[in-house]
Amino acid sequence: MTSARTRARLVERLRAQGISNEQVLAVIAQVPRHEFIDEALSHKAYDDTSLPIGFGQTISQPYIVARMTELAVAVPERKNVLEIGTGCGYQTTVLSKLFKTVHTIERIGGLVRNTRERLSRLGIHNARLRHADGSQGLPELAPFDVILITAAAPIVPENLISQLSNGGRLIFPVGSQEQELRMIERRGEDFLESRLEKVNFVPLLSGIS
Ligand code: SAH
Repeated sequence: MTSARTRARLVERLRAQGISNEQVLAVIAQVPRHEFIDEALSHKAYDDTSLPIGFGQTISQPYIVARMTELAVAVPERKNVLEIGTGCGYQTTVLSKLFKTVHTIERIGGLVRNTRERLSRLGIHNARLRHADGSQGLPELAPFDVILITAAAPIVPENLISQLSNGGRLIFPVGSQEQELRMIERRGEDFLESRLEKVNFVPLLSGIS
């Protein structure tokens, strides 16, 4: 179930869906997704689907993790990335292999505890996890080369664009019923917005629990 062959099959499926960055595909092939979900579901770990992780939340579908990561790595520098919505830490782990430092924020305390322990078990030492409402970003550590949001805001989170470095990218799902993946790229004082594809994320909520 966790064999090299199963992971290779996932990578082939991602390729067929248009993921072409070899570095991203190599990281997806390397990260043990079964470590991020409950054992009872581990037979589905390398299927291209989202799965429940408790607390009413989900681990993202590998395709969308690969897609967002591909957009993230195309920045001029990879010093730091801010992830909003850590969940089980799968996307965090993928980013940790491609950026020098990952800052990640999760609002649910139970997930923060589990994920902190998991990241340490997996030997991920360049990810800093905080228990907070991430919707205001992390102004004290800005600017970021990438800000990646893994929960859907009802409106475009324009408050975060001032935390991007020049050439930096804000990658986020937006919408309530119908959601869309979008990207805002900073070019000096200009901000270029692209609308990418239909997606389906859990909502970005305020406050902590
Ligand atoms: N990145 C995860 C996906 C997590 S699902 C993965 O790799 O699979 C989205 C997560 O965002 C949930 O755990 C949810 O609790 C969290 N979240 C929602 N609103 C948030 C907020 N305002 N601040 C921080 N985390 C938030």
